[in-house]
Amino acid sequence: MRIATSHLGNLYITIKAWVQKLGLGGNLIIPPANNQRTLSLGVKYSPEGLCLPFKMSLGNLIEACEMGADTLVIAGGAGICRLGYYAKIQEQILRDLGYNFEMIGLSMSEHKLFGLPKLIKRLSNNASWFKVISALRFAVAKQIAMDKIERVVQKVRAVELIKGTANQLYAKAIEAIDNADDYNTLKKVQIDYIDQLNHVAKDTQTKPLIVGIIGEFYVVLEPFSNLNIESELGKLGVEVRRRTFISEWAKFSLFFNSLGLDEKSKIHKAALPYLKRDIGGDGWESVGEKVLHAKEYDGLIHLAPFTCMPEIVAQNIMPSTKENIPVLPVLCDEQINKTGMLTRLEAFVDLLKSKRRARNNTQHKES
Ligand code: SF4
Repeated sequence: MRIATSHLGNLYITIKAWVQKLGLGGNLIIPPANNQRTLSLGVKYSPEGLCLPFKMSLGNLIEACEMGADTLVIAGGAGICRLGYYAKIQEQILRDLGYNFEMIGLSMSEHKLFGLPKLIKRLSNNASWFKVISALRFAVAKQIAMDKIERVVQKVRAVELIKGTANQLYAKAIEAIDNADDYNTLKKVQIDYIDQLNHVAKDTQTKPLIVGIIGEFYVVLEPFSNLNIESELGKLGVEVRRRTFISEWAKFSLFFNSLGLDEKSKIHKAALPYLKRDIGGDGWESVGEKVLHAKEYDGLIHLAPFTCMPEIVAQNIMPSTKENIPVLPVLCDEQINKTGMLTRLEAFVDLLKSKRRARNNTQHKES
């Protein structure tokens, strides 16, 4: 059996760790990291109006089939948006292309991530629950380590004196985490890279602008699909904050969500004056995050795949909330262009700087 699935940020490292601990490493096929070819394949074989996550993940699955995958785990769900149709349509397209495979549909809807451990147990020849869960714990520890380091990287990028240093350290950290085989090594890697990032030469005089990244899960987490927007903001001296991390999502979806104890409940509550219910995808969260963080951030960037219904609804609500903070909407699709996006980012950052200057002047006069 040669299993494969599509990419989502650095999740492949976590999945790899999980199956390797269960002795299934040789059965896993990891398609190439998202690149222009992946996108071209996805665009070529998808219906034109479908969203970018669909096209990118289809491109991954085609590349996996080319590498010999015969079992495809395809994300789907019973959500309100078109995510519910993903698995069926992608399966049909791949069969029409002549690939032979067994399809395993994986529900990504909330409360249903429990399906994942069950699936891994089945694939591992019914290994004991103890083995499956211990392997999962180690894999999640890797994801948590990657996300912790990334949070530090987001801060360092904004103030580092030699631009690109944090990115280089981050790439090395990811590789070291991928190679870590036990908890001790993993802990050492995490401490070591956070320490190195803390010692990067920085501009200590500047107070960087704070910009929150909100929007649809996939385009927020996939740097290829958003043209590495966080790095570009770092080059402009902006500190990026975001709530969406794979470890947080997995933790809440697996353990806390059904109890209503998670961060999401807070965000949904904040969105209630403007949007009373889930509209699919992350639309509800996008509105709630704007309301919650209006006082903490200088601005927000709202990432949305072109034609994504939930984010279109959210985007239309944004200008009418009384919580006032500049929001730059960025639509991601195969037409997105780096030069155009950089021009918009520069203009947005200029606007935020002048707003902050005006605010500081007013406070100065009042005191
Ligand atoms: S949330 Fe938007 S981008 Fe994601 S699957 Fe639904 S429609 Fe597509």
